[in-house]
Amino acid sequence: MLILGIESSCDETAASVARNHTEILSNVVSSQVEEHKQYGGVVPEIASRRHCENVLPVVQKALDDAGVTLAELDGIAVTAYPGLIGALLVGVNFAKGLALTAGKPLVPTHHLAGHIAANYIAHPELKPPYLCLVVSGGHSHLVEVLTYTKFRILGRTRDDAAGECFDKCARAMGYPYPGGIHLDKASQSGNPKAFSLPKPKIAENAYDFSFSGLKTAVVNLLHNAQQKGETICREDLAASVQATISEVLTEHTIRAAVEHGYSTIAIAGGVSANSGVRESLQKACDKRNFTLYMPPLSLCGDNGAMIACAGSYAFDAGIRADSSLNASATMELTDWGDMGNGQ
Ligand code: ATP
Ligand code: MG
Ligand code: FE
Repeated sequence: MLILGIESSCDETAASVARNHTEILSNVVSSQVEEHKQYGGVVPEIASRRHCENVLPVVQKALDDAGVTLAELDGIAVTAYPGLIGALLVGVNFAKGLALTAGKPLVPTHHLAGHIAANYIAHPELKPPYLCLVVSGGHSHLVEVLTYTKFRILGRTRDDAAGECFDKCARAMGYPYPGGIHLDKASQSGNPKAFSLPKPKIAENAYDFSFSGLKTAVVNLLHNAQQKGETICREDLAASVQATISEVLTEHTIRAAVEHGYSTIAIAGGVSANSGVRESLQKACDKRNFTLYMPPLSLCGDNGAMIACAGSYAFDAGIRADSSLNASATMELTDWGDMGNGQ
């Protein structure tokens, strides 16, 4: 089975061809990060315009690299939700046109299902059910992966996502956008115990996250130091932020695994590239004899391969759309799974 995956939910225009779900024949990513950097974040209008320019050459290259023609495809998967609406619309409308002209089934795909599926590419032995921590620029979810397309959300963030927290702390500390990776690098030479930072607990749901208090604490700490004319060691602060986020993510994930009887855990999303998060979860899993799956660093961020892979499973589950498909900035992972037959 050959599925083309198209991704345009944020600032990466990406496309890939997957054979039999997990064999990636091509993976083309055109990132706009250099352009958005000067504004300190993604400018939605610019993102949409760049997707318009890039989508055709990126998809063409993905087909060429794979040595596959449109006629040979079994289906066309596209990220339809969630994300920046103007950005999503470019990929969705392109995919609709392509599916219509080529006479191929159109598979609307959920971006977070894509992040989760990055694990299947690297570890085809990983099979549901298992518990997945999805941590990215816009989401922090603890998800029970029941089947390839059926999910139950145990916990989510009440405010900022983990990636957002990394980026905002890094920005306050003077690192360029997107700050997560810079904060990670700085952490390598810092003392993670130098600063004691808040780790909020949510009374009503012990699996939920809250990261805005940590961000505010970092901003206040920097302000106070500046007013007093004190210098703060950025590496120490970076290491303390990374250790705090890693501890919270690990504690919640392990508690959910124990309480729901999972010994197989995966992580997904941009923040799963973080060295502190990977190390902390690995240690906690080793201690309990749990198996931890992590995507390779190259598949943690947004890419087309994860959409081609998730789209392949969605194709099997009967998730389909016709040319009335519309993109949506918000869509629950669970609602997306309900579009299929539960496979
Ligand atoms: P979403 O997937 O929720 O729609 P998104 O697609 O914008 O959001 P991703 O591309 O999955 O997010 O992840 C980007 C986020 O991951 C950014 O916040 C970025 O800073 C963060 N990130 C990437 N690498 C690292 C790292 N090594 N340490 C910490 N954060 C990182
Ligand atoms: Mg991005
Ligand atoms: Fe993403």
